[in-house]
Amino acid sequence: MLHHFIWQFFLVIRYIVEEMLGQGTFGQVAKCWDAETNSYVAVKVIKNQPAFYQQAIMEVSLLSMLNENFDPDDQHHIVRMLDFFPWKNHLCITFEMLGHNLYELLKKNNLRGLQLQFVRTFSRQILDALIVMKGAGIIHCDLKPENILITPKVNSAAGVKVIDFGSACMEGKTIYSYIQSRYYRSPEVLLGYPYTTAIDMWSFGCIVAELYIGLPLFPGASEYDVLSRMIEIVGGQPPDDLLREAKNTRKFFKHVGSIYPGNEAHNGLRSSYRILTEDEVEARDSKKPKIGKWYFPRGRLDRLIFAYPWKNLNEGNLPETEKEDCLALVDFLRGLVEFDPNKRWSP
Ligand code: ADP
Ligand code: MG
Repeated sequence: MLHHFIWQFFLVIRYIVEEMLGQGTFGQVAKCWDAETNSYVAVKVIKNQPAFYQQAIMEVSLLSMLNENFDPDDQHHIVRMLDFFPWKNHLCITFEMLGHNLYELLKKNNLRGLQLQFVRTFSRQILDALIVMKGAGIIHCDLKPENILITPKVNSAAGVKVIDFGSACMEGKTIYSYIQSRYYRSPEVLLGYPYTTAIDMWSFGCIVAELYIGLPLFPGASEYDVLSRMIEIVGGQPPDDLLREAKNTRKFFKHVGSIYPGNEAHNGLRSSYRILTEDEVEARDSKKPKIGKWYFPRGRLDRLIFAYPWKNLNEGNLPETEKEDCLALVDFLRGLVEFDPNKRWSP
């Protein structure tokens, strides 16, 4: 009893809440003064429900494994977990205090995108984190601008770190099929197909494009909308074998024929599936409201990168160096937003 009292007392005076930093599905994050170490920390207070508690235990175990075994010297742009403890049926996790998330940064910039130099630096650092995660066999499952934070300036060099392992899992031990935030959801997850660390590379591609354009690449109002935007912007569609085996193919595609090995040109079609038309989607689920027509940005990937509207640029009046950089960026993105998870670039 006395022990319990001292423990409670200790907890009450250790962390002093200064302000709320964020709120998500899993709970709330507060900026706290840590009276023991005399420094600021971020404390994530998980909702007091068993399912969230279980997943938070996963976050703690995967992140401590990453921190201790795969990045002991804190060199790979993954947030450091400091401690965790129960408090009134809530699990609390303390992290090093970081800065704004990338969505907040984009908003501050009026959603006009970052200079290529920052896109490049941040991309390289996120890739560094993804290499470590892949090495550890961990899939993040929720990579998006809100889960990438600016690091406090060290020698005034800009930097980022990946946070929020609250949806992460081990490769080969995937349990959930409803993962990733919709705009950043990979085709294989949308379609209900077994997934790997490649789904993080898809999300990463979406993030890189968004950092440059300033707006999400596939801001679909529904899963169908996301998928049709992918097909329009990237060109092509998921490979036939994936469509044949995925659980949700029929939600989005119509079977229009068969292709036999060695007879790719059967019926003049390259695929035995085609995406449903909007009318067919409506007929499929007439109770749902019609998808809004706020189609922006739309257009092919290279058009988006070269001529994002508010700069009123086109290839013709871009400086030569920027033109080359844009071409390189389009090429880079094509390796990432690749429908086939086996052909998609690894970190
Ligand atoms: P959730 O699982 O609910 O999304 P996150 O871990 O992503 O929780 O945290 C939610 C938000 O809180 C983040 O998007 C970020 O803005 C803020 N945040 C989280 N961790 C930190 C941190 N270490 N330093 C500063 N802000 C943080
Ligand atoms: Mg989050």
